[in-house]
Amino acid sequence: MEVVTGNTGWIEVICGPMFSGKSEELIRRLRRAIIARKRVQVFKPAIDTRYAPDEIVSHGEQRLKAEVIAGAGEILSRLDWRTQVVGVDESNFFGMELVEVANQLADSGKQVIIAGLDTDYMGRPFHPMPELLSLAEAITKALAICVRCGNPAKHTQRLVESDELIVVGAAGMYEARCRRCFEPGVPRQEYFEFARPALRAKT
Ligand code: ADP
Ligand code: ZN
Repeated sequence: MEVVTGNTGWIEVICGPMFSGKSEELIRRLRRAIIARKRVQVFKPAIDTRYAPDEIVSHGEQRLKAEVIAGAGEILSRLDWRTQVVGVDESNFFGMELVEVANQLADSGKQVIIAGLDTDYMGRPFHPMPELLSLAEAITKALAICVRCGNPAKHTQRLVESDELIVVGAAGMYEARCRRCFEPGVPRQEYFEFARPALRAKT
């Protein structure tokens, strides 16, 4: 971040598909802030308790303590006024309220680091990420590796059948795919032969 100095706040967004390293990058930036002796608060949505109730956990097993909140408004009510850096993981789960909250934090001098999916399982913009990208001072778009062909992957491929926008899950329910290999929604082909019996066995 070369652009901002002094007491000015700002918004940094880290976006991309699942498995692209968003959480890793968020943890890296927050760790650096902690090393620099800045006061840091980290938030994640209650909806995402996949790996640990009170930590951000990357797919590569990096961890950082986080406060679990039910909605974006809780960031403001839980904020310690001395906090200088605010990190938010899984930001796409917070809805449009996060836009106003992030703006307010940046306006009041905080460094706000937002990580989240920029597209959903259909490949559509995942709100509020597009709005946050347009308001941010700095943007990082992370890419994963397509599990089909090895090319850079910008899509999160859903592997289970559901029309719900939010279905929380990790490996086995989602995978990274490139533009060419991505199939909006649920893949048509061989998935059904091998994955469906396994899913049925679980239920
Ligand atoms: P995100 O927060 O974007 O979902 P994470 O930071 O949790 O990503 O995890 C990134 C890590 O996931 C990578 O460093 C790598 O170890 C692992 N990984 C698993 N599958 C893939 C993939 N298809 N492409 C890239 N990384 C992958
Ligand atoms: Zn591909």
